[in-house]
Amino acid sequence: MLALDHLSVSYDGVPAVVDATLELADGHVLAVLGPSGSGKSTLLRAVAGLEPAVSGRICWDGADLAPVPTHKRGFALMFQDGQLFNHLTVARNIGYALRLRRTPRAAERVAELLALVGLEGYADRLPATLSGGERQRVALARSLAVAPRLLLLDEPLSALDAGLRERLAVDLREILRAAGTTALMVTHDQEEAFAVADRLAVMRAGRIVQQGDIAEVWRAPADPETALFLGYASVLEGAAAAALLRAAGRPAAPAVAVRRSALVVADDGPLGGVVVSARATPELIRLVVDVDGIGAVDAVGRLGTHPGPGDPVRLSVDPSRLAPTPTGR
Ligand code: ADP
Ligand code: MG
Repeated sequence: MLALDHLSVSYDGVPAVVDATLELADGHVLAVLGPSGSGKSTLLRAVAGLEPAVSGRICWDGADLAPVPTHKRGFALMFQDGQLFNHLTVARNIGYALRLRRTPRAAERVAELLALVGLEGYADRLPATLSGGERQRVALARSLAVAPRLLLLDEPLSALDAGLRERLAVDLREILRAAGTTALMVTHDQEEAFAVADRLAVMRAGRIVQQGDIAEVWRAPADPETALFLGYASVLEGAAAAALLRAAGRPAAPAVAVRRSALVVADDGPLGGVVVSARATPELIRLVVDVDGIGAVDAVGRLGTHPGPGDPVRLSVDPSRLAPTPTGR
């Protein structure tokens, strides 16, 4: 298990990561999500042992990693641009670390990895002949070759175009699950985080502002800024919130903010609507719903079934999801 304990990292006295406390249990994939410059790469580099901590600790299974150099941590790193060796074939790229370690039966392991990332038949190709997505698959297979106890991914899909990124994100999730890999991924892209990870930490200005199960964080963002960053269309407050509550047959609660994306919670107190668009990951669904008298509602939540456009849905407002209106908004 990886644990960050009040970790701070600075560059020339300027803080980049501030007081980060984070846990990642074995077999989980944690996405650290934050805007550019929020300190994500710095956090990852510190875990890899490439940046020293100013204060706090990074521990693996309870032991402080400070005295352990990068190459002895048993972690693998994968970057946005894969960084393949261009003069080596796909198979030799993937088997690189295995050859360095003189691992027995390396060829079998390479074949296994090629199958894992869906690149059977690509063994003898050179990187220059591959598409961006294929290159990232090779980079991933190479990172997984020595079965790292932790895989560190820095914006692994950001260099790919949108359609491919979405598909590869789902594949990445499957591959990590199939290999049982514990992974820490940093990204600025919320779709990527939701598609790949099962745990989420939100980072802003060097600080981790919220962390937890991905559905938990999405259903109940810590504050409006986090909600907006997670991709919510907007945060409803005041009159708009009251109108929604009335439509849902709930008593109007003055001075509440309804987080629109927290509306789909359970099946009680249904609010009828028609799905305008639906987008789903295995665990979460995001709906734009046209509700009579209210207009379009953008909602995110867990549903047992994934309705498609035009299907009637039942929404409910869960009073426990209402939060006091933040001051100043
Ligand atoms: P992110 O990965 O979230 O975009 P980074 O961790 O790269 O953020 O950067 C966090 C902050 O640290 C930024 O303000 C950035 O300018 C600064 N920073 C990053 N790397 C260095 C460096 N090598 N030297 C000085 N400042 C750096
Ligand atoms: Mg970065």
